[in-house]
Amino acid sequence: MNVISNHLPTAELQAIDAAHHMHPFTDGNELAAKGARIITRANGVYLTDSEGHQILDGMAGLWCMNVGYGRESIAQVASRQMMELPYYNTFFQTTHVPVIALSAKLAEITPEHMNHVFYAGSGSEANDTNIRLVRHYWAAMGKPSKKIIISRKNAYHGSTMGGASLGGMTSMHEQGGLPIPDIYHIGQPDWYAEGGDMSPEDFGLMRARELEAAIALFGENKIAAFIAEPVQGAGGVIIPPETYWPEIQRICDAHEILLIADEVICGFGRTGNWFGSQTMGIRPDIMTIAKGLTSGYIPMGGSIVADHVAEAINAAGDFNHGYTYNGHPVAAAVALENIRIIEEEGLIARVRDDIGPYLAKRWAELADHPLVGDAKTVGMMGTLPLTPDKSRRAAFAGKEGTIGYRCRERCFANDLVMRHVGDRMIISPPLTFSHEDVDTLIERARKSLDETYAGAKADGLLKAR
Ligand SMILES: *Cc1c(COP(=O)(O)O)cnc(C)c1O
Repeated sequence: MNVISNHLPTAELQAIDAAHHMHPFTDGNELAAKGARIITRANGVYLTDSEGHQILDGMAGLWCMNVGYGRESIAQVASRQMMELPYYNTFFQTTHVPVIALSAKLAEITPEHMNHVFYAGSGSEANDTNIRLVRHYWAAMGKPSKKIIISRKNAYHGSTMGGASLGGMTSMHEQGGLPIPDIYHIGQPDWYAEGGDMSPEDFGLMRARELEAAIALFGENKIAAFIAEPVQGAGGVIIPPETYWPEIQRICDAHEILLIADEVICGFGRTGNWFGSQTMGIRPDIMTIAKGLTSGYIPMGGSIVADHVAEAINAAGDFNHGYTYNGHPVAAAVALENIRIIEEEGLIARVRDDIGPYLAKRWAELADHPLVGDAKTVGMMGTLPLTPDKSRRAAFAGKEGTIGYRCRERCFANDLVMRHVGDRMIISPPLTFSHEDVDTLIERARKSLDETYAGAKADGLLKAR
């Protein structure tokens, strides 16, 4: 058997990696000088690196490893499916049993009015599909001028041309000529950073009403859809004020605007319901799924489409869109097994009633740390903005992200994966975290915060902007 070997010394593997492997969202030269961390195995909620460190994975890989590592049943299902039917396409009026079974299962667990799936290989691809889908829908409805999609600053919707255009990351728009036309961004509901003296409730309403202002600006007959993550993930786990989503829903309903909920992170249990839309009490027309759909064991994404949208698309003839790997049989089999595990182990109720509340309680304790401005969670996602001055939620005077980066490095040194977005620390652990895992996470996080604080103080970096 051709096994990929880990036998080379770490430094040699790092040199080969640096010579030939281009990393995503990475400064290649900086990484080449430093050497990438090499992950060799994982089990449960722990990673092992090439130096033998046991690292607690507070990010579930990249927000995706919902059921935890080392699931033998998933490997077996994939292996069996590869022997039986490793691939066949779903173009040209063909289908296969795994994609049929998965589609029926998704129709069962998604909101009642959503019973159709268009598959993709990733979340980015699914959002590209969504752009074409909503514009094609309005054309089919006799309103071809409804083309503009409204999104939000600091949103993340993927890295393809369409996905990154929908996203609101300026650092991404600056490279490669983005955004593509007919995409417009409004403000995000980030009360902590942008709410100033307003109450969270007033701020949430104000930000939601930017959608209504944008619709008025272009005219309702030009707007196809609004897209948003129920809780922004990569933007820094931004949990919107309670007033925000009901007002967004009201505005979408009042103006004939399709609502796309990007559930790539929030879906499959992360917020304590199957979907973040349920946690936020909204009724989307399309939901983007990926990540937790297969818990990252194999790539797969898709668009869950409401009945009224699917019916209009189906009535309009060919939808001239598709990917070679639409509904890939092995990915479909893996997704089904992943969903079976979530159901059998009651992971959603567990997040809602047990481990989610426990994480919330322990995470909130970090708010007493001198560096921490806020400590909130929703389900199994947490945010921890760092600040030199709690009383006014101040930003650091130096370059944004310096303290966050330092803290991430301390976490790594203390065998914890916690990510930073600017000067915010964030977590999104596997849904299988035990109480003990939460305790370990909090202990390592606090130690890392202490070290970050001491280091920043010694280097004179604790000044407020
Ligand atoms: C990760 C992510 C995507 C992109 O998914 P990929 O599988 O990386 O293409 C889209 N939307 C959200 C909210 C995400 O977090």
